[in-house]
Amino acid sequence: MFKKICFLFFINLLLIGCKSTESILNGNKTALKNNYLDGNSIALYEGINDTTFVKLKNFSSNFIFDMKYATEDNFLKKKVYDCDDCYLRLKTIKSLINANNEFLSKGYRIKIFDCYRPLDIQKKMFELVPNPDYVADPKRGSIHNRGGAVDLTLVDENGNELDMGTTFDFFGPEASHNYADFSKKIRKNRVFLKEIMIKNNFKPLNSEWWHYNLNESSKDNLANFKWDCN
Ligand SMILES: [Zn+2]
Repeated sequence: MFKKICFLFFINLLLIGCKSTESILNGNKTALKNNYLDGNSIALYEGINDTTFVKLKNFSSNFIFDMKYATEDNFLKKKVYDCDDCYLRLKTIKSLINANNEFLSKGYRIKIFDCYRPLDIQKKMFELVPNPDYVADPKRGSIHNRGGAVDLTLVDENGNELDMGTTFDFFGPEASHNYADFSKKIRKNRVFLKEIMIKNNFKPLNSEWWHYNLNESSKDNLANFKWDCN
């Protein structure tokens, strides 16, 4: 009798287990479908050096792009890229895809504002705004020029940006991670972004909530190649 009760209890546990797994799978149908796409891209990494510059779109179709410097909708009010594209070193792409997969599993995805920036473009930006508080001095260069920095935010399933308190490239104390005078919701959104980025090998920049550097990427060389616009 005791054995029978134990057996029934065990079967019940199995059924409960299966039921909860099924509901999680159903709830994340879109995310799983998208993860499947990025799972395939792992094979594409083979044979490519981690420091090689690659195009994000060749490895993932799960990001939203709003490349501000390829438009006049930026603090410079000038289009400084001939066309929009997101190039980064392969190691940065890998970590970024891992972070995005984690956001996707929670119903969000990354929207990108800027990636690798050729050194000549950095010079052009510094000529327009020669203030190192706003634009990195091209003599030192920025991590964007090294292919290890990315400017981003998060969007929900409908493509709406999460409220981060300020717009991208807002210059003021409100852009800082340390700025505490925001609603609980805004602070929660920033922390949500920051924690998953940190977990995936990125380091936040305290003064700009949208900017993330891949760890150790300051050791990589400055670069100046231009991507093909055709
Ligand atoms: Zn940046």
